[in-house]
Amino acid sequence: MLTVSEAQQRILSHFEPAVSHRRAAVARGTNGVELQTLSLDQTAGRVLAEDICATIDLPPFDNSSMDGFALHAADTRGSNSSNPVTLSVVADIPAGNLSNIVISPGQAARIMTGAPIPAGADAVVTVEVTDQSREPGAPAPEAVSVYQPVQPGENIRHRGDDIYAGSIVLARGRRLCAQDLGLLAMLGVSKLQVYRSPRLAIFSNGDELIPVEAPLIPGKIRDANSYTLSILAAQAGAEVIPLGIAADECAAIHKLLDLAVEAQADLIVSSAGVSVGAYDFVKQVVEEQGHLEFWKVNMRPGKPLAFGLYRGIPFFGLPGNPVSAFIGFEVFVRPALERLSGAAPLSFTRRRARLAEAIDSDGRESYLRAVVTEENGALLARLTGHQGSGNLLSLVQANALLIVPSGVKSLPASAEVEIWML
Ligand code: AMP
Ligand code: MG
Repeated sequence: MLTVSEAQQRILSHFEPAVSHRRAAVARGTNGVELQTLSLDQTAGRVLAEDICATIDLPPFDNSSMDGFALHAADTRGSNSSNPVTLSVVADIPAGNLSNIVISPGQAARIMTGAPIPAGADAVVTVEVTDQSREPGAPAPEAVSVYQPVQPGENIRHRGDDIYAGSIVLARGRRLCAQDLGLLAMLGVSKLQVYRSPRLAIFSNGDELIPVEAPLIPGKIRDANSYTLSILAAQAGAEVIPLGIAADECAAIHKLLDLAVEAQADLIVSSAGVSVGAYDFVKQVVEEQGHLEFWKVNMRPGKPLAFGLYRGIPFFGLPGNPVSAFIGFEVFVRPALERLSGAAPLSFTRRRARLAEAIDSDGRESYLRAVVTEENGALLARLTGHQGSGNLLSLVQANALLIVPSGVKSLPASAEVEIWML
């Protein structure tokens, strides 16, 4: 049986060509299939397909970082509260306005945060170190007394302090987040080229499954995996093609696999029907029009896990038990999606924690549900009760997966383990 990392390697080898194809498409220029040009507000979470070079300086002009008075720093030398310097106020510059007045020695301009520094001035004193009021709506005074010296440049944000025109601010392959969009907006980038999202088709398999809105009748259960897996896929940056539920019949499974191919899925994920049950037809159906690389991985939960190609499209047959399906997605599907999207991972944070109590394992690489808390500066992990692969509540209660390496059958309290924060 394959180890988890062997299975991961075999899976990832099928996704390499997709990435190089994608890179090649970019090198050749636009390719309508692989790239999309979107307006800025549609790009959060998408992967940038071009380097973004600033075409302007940021800030675009010298401006005040404080509400106060723009002046000649030299005029304030030696001033203090008992011996202030008094300057005549020759301009009032709210944010959004330019002043053509040149500030001469002995003069000042009232200025607001973000307003352009007038010519002549080389510093700003804050309103707090003057005799002026901070009331909204107060008119500009005729004169201002300053109680503290300032250095040249103080309280001025210079043009280009943040970014110079011509510098690359975001590189191709970046997954765009909130602050990236803010920066792009400041730079005036209203349209961007991004990679199209990987398309992931999902279906569940089993005669016992009914949709969430159907009344529960004896012998049936509601389909959990369609929800869990769709959300995980969407959060990992995929465009989800939901295909519903296939009955335990070859024809029904074929039909949904073919629908996935017609919808131009980049990968197909199903759950259940890949074990050794008499009605587990998924493996057989995939092999009729493709091949399976493997269908068992030495892990817990989730040993029956199939991977192959169906009509040339990578296919993941995850286990049916809801916790196994979740973990199978995290361990195998997510890394494949990451490789396909050509971006930095959106994986869970990986940490190390100490066990709060001793645990047993069966020698398989195990992914256990745990609550991790910080106690006296150290992370402590406790299992969340029933670890059966059908017990979704213990996954709901968990905030981490705790990984017991293969070959380990028991770990004492306070042993250090790897955890994935959920
Ligand atoms: P199987 O792999 O088909 O033997 O399914 C294993 C277990 O997972 C069975 O108890 C199924 O009823 C259950 N199961 C399969 N698919 C789902 C699903 N989509 N939602 C919830 N439970 C499921
Ligand atoms: Mg089944």
